[in-house]
Amino acid sequence: MTLPIYLYGQPVLRKQAEEITADYNDLATLIDNMFKTMYQSEGIGLAAPQIGLPIKLIVIDLDYISDDNSEFKGFKKVLINPTITYRSEESNGAEEGCLSLPGIHEKVMRPTHIKIQYQDEHFQLHEEEYSDFFARVVQHEYDHLEGKMFIDHLSPIRKQMIKGKLNNIVKGKAHCSYKSKAVNAKR
Ligand code: ZN
Repeated sequence: MTLPIYLYGQPVLRKQAEEITADYNDLATLIDNMFKTMYQSEGIGLAAPQIGLPIKLIVIDLDYISDDNSEFKGFKKVLINPTITYRSEESNGAEEGCLSLPGIHEKVMRPTHIKIQYQDEHFQLHEEEYSDFFARVVQHEYDHLEGKMFIDHLSPIRKQMIKGKLNNIVKGKAHCSYKSKAVNAKR
């Protein structure tokens, strides 16, 4: 089942997400639905707050957008209760988009290397290091669990320049090719 994506302006996107335990209600189905929702909306990552649940759960799949020789091949993950334990001082910038911010793409500065602890879908604990694009994707999704979005990293001038687009998202006027939930959308 695919789920509607909550768009910018929805309060759940600004909440600090809560940790979950292995007995979380129907977790396997939820994870499956999150992957399906992500594929259908052509995303590469999705955090639970984006489907209206303020819990520490992220799905990422770079494999399905990769050809056989790509470095992204096989990178498919479920991250539960993650904590970033290290961020490099070195950072770089690249353009990001977000399913909760349709039509907005902006360059975001982020640390190039991170270490992260998380539990997988079987609640096995992992600690892994990521660099460059992997680190960027993971940090973008991790931000969602802290009630942050990529636009929070922009300069005041860039924020001012996208204000009209943000207002349109809130009003439910942004073009969206997938099921979505804007705050003030008319039915
Ligand atoms: Zn996002």
